[in-house]
Amino acid sequence: MAFNFSKSNLPKQLFINNEYIASKNSKKLELFNPKDGSLVANDVDLAGAEDVDAAVDAAEKAFPAWRKLPGQARREIMLKFADLIQKHSVALAELSRITLGAPIATIGTREPAFAAEAFRYFAGWIDKFAGESFPQDDGFLKIVRNEPLGVVAGVIPWNGPMATACSKMAPALATGNCFILKPSEKTPFAALALGPLIIEAGFPPGVVQVLSGDGSTGALLSAHMRIRKISFTGSIPTGKRIQEAAAKSNLKRVTLELGGKSPAVVFDDANLENAITWTARALTMNTGQICFAATRVYVQEGIYDKFVEGYKKALLEAAKTIGDPDTQSTMMGPLVDKAQFERVSGFIERGKDGQGTLLTGGSRVGSEGYFIQPTVFTNVSDTAEILRQEIFGPVSVLNSFKTEEEVIAKCNDTNFGLMAGVFTQDVNRALRVASEFDSGMVGVNCVSLSFRHTPFGGTKESGLGRENGSAALRAYTDQKTVMINLTY
Ligand code: NAD
Repeated sequence: MAFNFSKSNLPKQLFINNEYIASKNSKKLELFNPKDGSLVANDVDLAGAEDVDAAVDAAEKAFPAWRKLPGQARREIMLKFADLIQKHSVALAELSRITLGAPIATIGTREPAFAAEAFRYFAGWIDKFAGESFPQDDGFLKIVRNEPLGVVAGVIPWNGPMATACSKMAPALATGNCFILKPSEKTPFAALALGPLIIEAGFPPGVVQVLSGDGSTGALLSAHMRIRKISFTGSIPTGKRIQEAAAKSNLKRVTLELGGKSPAVVFDDANLENAITWTARALTMNTGQICFAATRVYVQEGIYDKFVEGYKKALLEAAKTIGDPDTQSTMMGPLVDKAQFERVSGFIERGKDGQGTLLTGGSRVGSEGYFIQPTVFTNVSDTAEILRQEIFGPVSVLNSFKTEEEVIAKCNDTNFGLMAGVFTQDVNRALRVASEFDSGMVGVNCVSLSFRHTPFGGTKESGLGRENGSAALRAYTDQKTVMINLTY
């Protein structure tokens, strides 16, 4: 099966057991291009109960042989898959961008490259994720093995379709599990297009399934009695529903990567230009639709006025690059769809109605598509909705503070805990504040970034468990203790 998908030849069927098959469900997904609202497709398969069962059957059947495949063979398949993703990165990026609206210049082929790197990184772990052993001084040799879980599923959001998919698929497959991927109903095409690459790489039938669908498909996966784990990235309310379904079904393992309202703290002694660069980028990257975007910015009184001036200037410059995502000079595209546009616009309008002072932005750009200016509110009260809730668009709140103690209390006064950033030249303060932040990730003189080899995830309601690094391997395995009696 040759890879020949493109904007004019979209993949629309489910991929099960290394074959494209039509859904047994009569419901279809409808997708639009966010740059102008035009219809992209209204006939994309939506997996229902029978389809989910078929995917689980195929994965269960493939599991015994896949888990026993010598590590070297598994690694070669994964490395080949990475090369194939890279080879087709232009087409895969196009298939994401058509309904995501991300600019070619910012995401372009970068997202597939990131996805390919996930496969290379986790392929490299295959012969290094050794178990443990404990000496037989008490007469028993103890061996602790890392065992795959079986059939596992990934349910993902729309904001980074390829990167999120591969952050889950790669460690799951590396550790010998079989995988069912459910992409977001807003961005299914890149995931659905992986079929020919899965086959060409050499994954045996049933090892990887791709089921397009909406929340109803995700709910079927979370409640399924033969799926042993769900790794979910998305909103907090959905994460809670998934954990509940997992508990009520077969107590499947759950990893949750959820929302954020990440603070960035800029002290008087910070390098102003660096602080402005990182905090402005956090807001404009992917049009602010990034879970770890620094959307609460706290600046110490001494440099507040200068920061306000520079931050506003940087965002006004960014606003000049809003436009057609298919044009190379565009750095900020539209929001993903009408619903997201209305949600973000609603926050902005209510924000303008007495929650703070509008520093910049606050309006739609153009009259077609879902473009919005980078928007900043200052002097926002600690109880305001725009300060407390995740908006998931290019909107931030900017407040001043006096003392370290005061700002730490404000930063931690939230149920989110994904990312935080501190900007200062004082290494003692940087490390002190980094340890005080209640968050899964902290940037010092940087913010809103991540690395493949270090744990990614949040505290409190921002999540449960970690992705990336060796933490991801743990998340797809259970430890088994083997005790050998050497006393007779
Ligand atoms: P969402 O929760 O609406 O949907 C995410 C996925 O869950 C989709 O595939 C959807 O079909 C599925 N789903 C919906 N209802 C379900 C149910 N009842 N059971 C199972 N699955 C269901 O989130 P979204 O709008 O697609 O994404 C935005 C959210 O994702 C934001 O809150 C953002 O912060 C979060 N996010 C978090 C991270 C992270 O790593 N922490 C990364 C990206 C996005």
